[in-house]
Order: sequence, then C-alpha cells, then structure tokens
Amino acid sequence: MIKKLFKRVFGKSAKVKSLGAASVIPFEVHKVGRDGISYGAKRVTDGLQAAGFKAFVVGGAVRDLLLDKHPKDFDVATDATPEEVRRVFRRARIIGRRFRLVHVMFGEETVEVSTFRRAIDAEDAETDAHGRILRDNEFGDQEQDAARRDFTANALFYDPTTQEIFDYHHGYEDIRANTLRMVGDPEVRYREDPVRMLRAVRLSAKLGMKLDAATAAPIAKMKDLLANVPEARMFDEMLKLLLSGHAWECIKKLRAMELHHGMLPMLDVILEQPLGEKFVTLALKNTDARIQADKPTNPAFLFACLLWHEVLAAWKTKQDAGEKPIGALHEAMDEVLGRQRAQLAIPRRYDAVMKEMWVMQPRFEQRGGQRPMRLLGVPRFRAAYDFLLLRCESGEVDKGLGEWWTEFQDASEERRAEMLQPDTGPKKKRRRSKKPNATAVQAELPID
Ligand code: ATP
Ligand code: MG
Repeated sequence: MIKKLFKRVFGKSAKVKSLGAASVIPFEVHKVGRDGISYGAKRVTDGLQAAGFKAFVVGGAVRDLLLDKHPKDFDVATDATPEEVRRVFRRARIIGRRFRLVHVMFGEETVEVSTFRRAIDAEDAETDAHGRILRDNEFGDQEQDAARRDFTANALFYDPTTQEIFDYHHGYEDIRANTLRMVGDPEVRYREDPVRMLRAVRLSAKLGMKLDAATAAPIAKMKDLLANVPEARMFDEMLKLLLSGHAWECIKKLRAMELHHGMLPMLDVILEQPLGEKFVTLALKNTDARIQADKPTNPAFLFACLLWHEVLAAWKTKQDAGEKPIGALHEAMDEVLGRQRAQLAIPRRYDAVMKEMWVMQPRFEQRGGQRPMRLLGVPRFRAAYDFLLLRCESGEVDKGLGEWWTEFQDASEERRAEMLQPDTGPKKKRRRSKKPNATAVQAELPID
C-alpha cells in the first residue's frame, strides 16, 4: 500500500524497497538530506559504519526533520555494544541505569548512542505486580529495536550515508497523516510502561499531531497505573512537559484526559480558584513563549508559579491566626513545599530559588526609603519582578505596582527620588556609609 501511495504521489522514479519487514524510503521521497543531521550525529554514524557496524539516527530527530521542525537532540542506534561504541570514539562514556547508553561528546554536542534492544517477550520480562517492565537491557536487532519504540513516528531509522529511512511500522505514512500511533497493542505497551500515556499527550500537543483513536482509547481505563511509576521518573517527565514549549496545551490535554492526578496532583486545587487558574495559565503561556523564543527558563521559577496560590492561601490562614507577616510567609512556604514533596517529588535543589521568588514578593510593596534600591540590587530581582508582573496581570495585585517597578528600574536618579513614597516601613538603624555593602543587602533579605 505504501509503495502504491508513493508511486501515485511521486511517480515511478521514487522506489520504496522492502527489506525484510522494513520499507526503505529513499531521499527522493522523504527529502531529508544529510545536511539536516547535526555534526556530532554524522561523526557518530560515520565512525561506527567505518568500524563495520550499522548506525542510524533514530527517534525524535527523524520525526522532527520529517515534520520540518528543528530537532532538540540527535540519538543514534547501532548494532555495536556499548563497549564497542566507546572504543570507536575518543570522548565517550557509558551511562545509564535502566538502559546502558553511550554518550559521545563533540564540543558542546552530546550524541546519545544506544545498542539495538531486544523486543520484549512478555513471558520472560521482569515486571512489577502491574506488568511494568523493570529491566530491559538485552540487545537485539534493528527490527526488534523498532518494535520496542513507543510511537510509529518515533520508530524510523535514518542512514545519513545513503539518506534512506528504514520504516518497520508505517511511521512515515502516519507522520504524513499527522497521526501519533502506538507501535503494537496500545494496552500492552501502556502496561509495560505507563509513562507512555504521558508521552502520548505531550508529543501530540507539542507536535500538533492527532492521537490515533486506538492509541487514545485505553488511556481512560489505564491511567491509574501511573501511580506505580517511580517519583523521579514522573518528575523527569513533568519537567519535559513543562519545558516543551507547549506546556499550556499539554496541561489542557492532561486535564481533559484526567491524567493530571498522577502528574500534577495540586493542579485541581489550584485551578479551582479563578485567580489561581488565571495566574497558572499566564505563567505557563509566558514560559511557552520564552522557550519558543529560545530564551532561558528556570524550572524553579515555574514551580514557584504553580505553587504560589497555595502559598498565598497558607500565608493568609497564618496571618488571620495572628502571626506576623514575614514569619507567617516562611512557615507557609515550608508547609506547601513539604506537602508537595510527598506527592510530586520536586527535588530540594529547587527550593532555594522558589523561596527567593516568594520572599521577594512582599518586598515589592515597600516603595519608600532605601528599600526599593536595595531590592534592585538583589541577584534574582529580574525573575522576581517577572513573577510580580504575572501577579499583576492575573488580577491578584494592583497593576499600578508592576508599572511603578517597570518605571523605577530604568528611571533617572531624579525621577527615582520623585517616585519614592514616604517611608512607612519599620525603621532601620542608621548606617554611617551611604551605600549599603553586599552583606547589608543580604541581611535585608528576610531569610531564616
Ligand atoms: P523529544 O522531542 O521530547 O526529545 P523524543 O521522541 O525524542 O521526543 P526521547 O525521550 O528523547 O523522546 O526518546 C527518544 C526515543 O526513544 C523516542 O523517539 C522513542 O523512539 C524512544 N522512547 C523514549 N521513551 C520511550 C518509552 N517510554 N517507550 C518506548 N520508547 C521510548
Ligand atoms: Mg529526543
């Protein structure tokens, strides 16, 4: 069928050969040239092929090139073992827990090289009580490797030397039809690895591909299997989703398919209140725009946004109970982080930056005396200010506050003096020196 389709579209000259179970699609048909492949990936496939091995660019990169998108990174699959791969390249190291892989480094670029995996034999595989595959590191051949990839669009092999694509699962046709389809029986594949349900949502949102009906159907009844996935893996997947450049789209889809319970347990609570929903929506759209514009994004900033309304609620409860504002804020932050850690496993390394974002927010309200100048000098002022603007835009605080800070940052000294309001904050002891030194600025930060 695929041959007929190509003949019809491209005429007789474009020949799709069959090689065993694979269709071999020539350059004239798919039009992905060797120059679309990164320097490092070409070095890796050339090097391995020169040493007598098979080597192909695989997975997301081939898919993205066919979709006319810029691949994020390039992966290579080969019949060489990790040790054999390492011997071919000067800068290569074997990594991996679940799978053993080789990272080959060329300057800034790292190419991930994996040995063809063996197709999973459900009888023999080591699984948990729910059928999730625990170990899967046996080597196989190219065809088996294709069978254990998740979606047909991700199961294509590109040879940069011949510029041919090897397709075992009609992935090429699916990409042309803009369809994301699971390789094999979707139910079996979700049971082996429930994270594939999240990948289905993320990739279809990110690539604008529709999810094939049979691939989407089992998700509703299988979504609870996500509860058995180790937290660290869920966290990795969530990070990929949030930093995909299509986080808002992904989250909408996750909610529509009710997959977010496993992924972002706090989302329901946050999105229940209109202000929280507005704030999170703005934060996600803002991150998406930054990523699409190739600007750096700090995941901690995004987590600080996702949890902000929880912090606000806890902060208010404590102040209503008579606690002093700053003390109450610190307690509220610790309480929310503790609660989330139990469900979501946000690693502790993000805590410091999240807390910085939160702690600086009340300081924006103080617009008298030396305080605004000191706040401008704080290292993460810019991020905290972006956070403030999102709060203004969501309607949580007065827009005027954001506008004041926008103007104050770039204003002349004279204008700044005019802008400062009467100093109503708690009085500080006078200092001899007019310029606060670095330690004085740090001491200003209400840190416990
Ligand atoms: P992205 O653009 O987000 O990197 P990707 O498809 O390249 O998408 P990776 O996580 O980089 O995703 O994985 C590379 C390839 O490995 C995939 O294209 C797919 O072939 C295979 N793969 C990844 N995760 C799984 C999985 N859970 N089950 C089966 N195959 C997978
Ligand atoms: Mg990838």
